[in-house]
Amino acid sequence: MGLRFRNLNPIYRACIARLSSSSQNRTTAKKSLNLYPKESIFIFSENPAFRIPRREHFGHSHHDHDHHHHLSQDLKEEGENIFRLGLAADIGLATGKAFTGYVSGSTAIIADAAHSISDVVLSGIALLSFRLAKAPRDKEHPYGHGKFETLGALGISCMLLGTAGGIAWHAVDILMGVFSSGPEMVSHAVAHEHVHSHGHGGHHHGIDMEHPILALNMTILSICVKEGLYWITKRAGEKQGSGLMKANAWHHRADAISSVVALIGVGGSILGVKFLDPLAGLLVSGMILKAGAETGYQSILELVDAAIPAQHLDPIKQTILQVDGVKGCHRLRGRRAGSYLYLDVHIEVDPFSSVSAAHNIGENVRKRIHKSHPTVAEIFIHIDPAMSCLSPSTTDQQEDSWSEDKEHGSIASAEDNNIEGIVSDIISSNFPQISVERVTRHMFQGKIVLQIEVSMPPEIQIRDAMEIAKQAEREVLKAVSSVIHVGIQLRLGQPFSHISHG
Ligand SMILES: [Zn+2]
Ligand SMILES: [Zn+2]
Ligand SMILES: [Zn+2]
Repeated sequence: MGLRFRNLNPIYRACIARLSSSSQNRTTAKKSLNLYPKESIFIFSENPAFRIPRREHFGHSHHDHDHHHHLSQDLKEEGENIFRLGLAADIGLATGKAFTGYVSGSTAIIADAAHSISDVVLSGIALLSFRLAKAPRDKEHPYGHGKFETLGALGISCMLLGTAGGIAWHAVDILMGVFSSGPEMVSHAVAHEHVHSHGHGGHHHGIDMEHPILALNMTILSICVKEGLYWITKRAGEKQGSGLMKANAWHHRADAISSVVALIGVGGSILGVKFLDPLAGLLVSGMILKAGAETGYQSILELVDAAIPAQHLDPIKQTILQVDGVKGCHRLRGRRAGSYLYLDVHIEVDPFSSVSAAHNIGENVRKRIHKSHPTVAEIFIHIDPAMSCLSPSTTDQQEDSWSEDKEHGSIASAEDNNIEGIVSDIISSNFPQISVERVTRHMFQGKIVLQIEVSMPPEIQIRDAMEIAKQAEREVLKAVSSVIHVGIQLRLGQPFSHISHG
């Protein structure tokens, strides 16, 4: 085994030398020459593929292959509880208002109860879409149900826009009345028919002047409950990154501040300041309009898979780069679906590591991301050979390039596909002492580096074996144009197949 280690490094060094001499930038190529071989010695002695005990199997059976992951249960529970709290509060308010309205006979309170019932329906829809979004993926929705949450958020945003429009309409209506009619009449109208059309379904917020104390208490209670719900829901929404929660929080606040407007209107009419109510109405309408537009805009961005802002992706990139064996990463991109984040990324690993070792690094990246970023539902990891050390000029292109062909360079031609067969033929016809055991090809931007494992008769002198190997390397290089380096290694120990088949 030791011989194999030592032979790998010269191949690596030679291949780097060849590739860098063909690249345009001489000075940086020299820098990479100094840097990389030292590092590669470290990599090979650490390479997990070579440390696997003899009788163990390679690969998947020995690690927890966790491709499935769901938002941590705590966050889900917390989110559901917030929606349940909102629903319970709305039911409580609706019942309380209906009861006091019925007892007092106040039509304004009954109208307000009707609005609270529509809130119950909306809160129910929000809770349902949140729960639906958290359902595990199935055959019909293999990417999960996260976008249901986005749809719910979009629905609530539309409702907020409608509410804002309704309040604005009402305010403008009163203002027109103020300008067109006499002061006495307006004051009368404001005091006795003070109703706020509340966007969803045209429900009314109003203060009944015949039962001032009861109506006032009910309104103040409603404002406090709704404003409290706004803060609780908003905090949780920001923590979970859920657009639905943020939109729902704003629905609570819209209810609270439209009741405040009703109070201001009553206060204004008592004081005789008739501009107070419509002005407050316009202000509140602007606030709700802004909130509805923001949450609606975010939902639409989410639905069309807009890019995740860099400040959210950078910490994830840092996490990836901290994983052992990751030499770099690029093309990290994400899509949001409700509170879930779906990512894909290219990670760069040592180009000479085995597929199983590289896969293992990928799995470590996945585990680390799930551990430190619980909102990431899934991450797709593509493994690239680390090329940045070979030709610095291409890394900048890689960062910017989003088209697959451009990044991964030319693909080997059809002739190259049977390179192993060609190599075996050349060696067996020219060098009868050598029997080819295994040909491993390494690809660097369309160029091929061959690692040929051979066995030779035990009587042969090592000096002679080296001479034969040198000739064979030359023959193979001559025969296949796309091969830039050949390394022949003598097999001394047990072949790998003994390990993998137990
Ligand atoms: Zn409402
Ligand atoms: Zn890539
Ligand atoms: Zn896998």
